[in-house]
Amino acid sequence: MSDIHKTKTAIVIGGSLGGLFVGTMLRTAGWEVHIYERSKQDLDSRGGGIVLQPDVVEVLRRTGIDVDSIDLGVTSLHRTTWRQDGKMEHRSVAPQTQTSWSLIYQMMKEKFPDENYHQNKNLIEIKEDSNTQKVTAAFGDGSEVTGDLLIGADGNGSTVRQLLWPNDEPSYAGYLAWRGLVEENKVPEQAKELLGNFDFANHRTENGSSHMLGYLVPGKNNNTRTGHRLYNWVWYRIADAETLADIMVDTEGRQLGYSVPEGKLRQDWVLNIHADADEFLPPNFRAMVKATDRPFAQAIRDLTVDTMVKGRVILLGDAAFIPRPHTAASTSKAAFNAIVLAEALKKFPNDIDTALKAWEPQQMILGQKLFQQGSAAGDRLMFI
Ligand SMILES: Cc1cc2nc3c(=O)[nH]c(=O)nc-3n(C[C@H](O)[C@H](O)[C@H](O)COP(=O)(O)OP(=O)(O)OC[C@H]3O[C@@H](n4cnc5c(N)ncnc54)[C@H](O)[C@@H]3O)c2cc1C
Repeated sequence: MSDIHKTKTAIVIGGSLGGLFVGTMLRTAGWEVHIYERSKQDLDSRGGGIVLQPDVVEVLRRTGIDVDSIDLGVTSLHRTTWRQDGKMEHRSVAPQTQTSWSLIYQMMKEKFPDENYHQNKNLIEIKEDSNTQKVTAAFGDGSEVTGDLLIGADGNGSTVRQLLWPNDEPSYAGYLAWRGLVEENKVPEQAKELLGNFDFANHRTENGSSHMLGYLVPGKNNNTRTGHRLYNWVWYRIADAETLADIMVDTEGRQLGYSVPEGKLRQDWVLNIHADADEFLPPNFRAMVKATDRPFAQAIRDLTVDTMVKGRVILLGDAAFIPRPHTAASTSKAAFNAIVLAEALKKFPNDIDTALKAWEPQQMILGQKLFQQGSAAGDRLMFI
């Protein structure tokens, strides 16, 4: 069906990176975009560091950010693997840039009009009108909005997916990531050799596998200057479902599901991490873990979908595919989803259905490829 002339309106559910990427890209295609985020205030630091990939830089560039003249992160030169006895196992030259979730979020948020970014809006229902092909989002506060396209950028627990793709749910991969951030000027002497590189430590015993990595990311206020950055570490450990459920009970006794934010991990689990650090990690990473004030936790989950489009509702980012973090590509996948969607809608300005048909196959291939790569890497590191 043709959708001639009038400015089209997109309803984006979720105002994190995926939502902001698609929101800004669709505006470049001439769409009116409104983002609806369930959180009441600006989102704060989520999970610390991310590896900066080309598609994220491309979104920033297309949004009008002068990517050549600003610091987008912290550059590391080498990849180094450490043995448990503290000796270097391997070092190779592999320059790359690490950024932070909050740096990208803030840059994107500044480029999206405040009046179109609606907080405290929890999607609860979607209605589609087969005559007009309009789609309506209903929120927990009783309000409703109607548009030409509804985009589920609402992450791994996506309500959009639960409503329209009820059989597609993430599954627990059998291990979790302990994570932590340490201010650069508080990094203990023993861990200082980790600063400036992208470092790893793998260890396997009868008691289980341990895969650790870490790198510097921008610090407070996105500061990338030496002395003001943060060391971001991620430590993968196997945990059965029962253990995971216990880890996810926070300091106030609430069951959080699949992630525990900074400051909410119970002290008994903090002590458990320290004890495991003594058993599994080389001295540099061990010191870094113990210097972490507020470690946090994220369960590793798997998700694929068979289709990203249902009528005038689509899924993107983590709502559609969750590749395991070993790919370091989830954020760039969300960026690619957004860039190509805007291009397809520009190419078929009066035919949304054709645009979505043109958009979907490439996105499915990317999602499946990253999913398979991530699962293979994670299983090899943790189980095989
Ligand atoms: C251990 C770990 C390490 C990672 N490392 C990397 C890395 O190095 N590189 C990388 O690219 N990625 C990494 N990621 C993944 C990355 O964090 C996400 O893929 C990326 O932020 C894109 O997420 P998103 O915007 O699709 O979803 P999310 O960031 O989860 O955002 C979803 C948003 O939707 C909102 N929402 C949910 N439900 C509703 C509702 N009903 N109504 C309204 N709003 C709603 C939520 O509040 C949230 O703000 C890592 C992830 C993990 C777990």
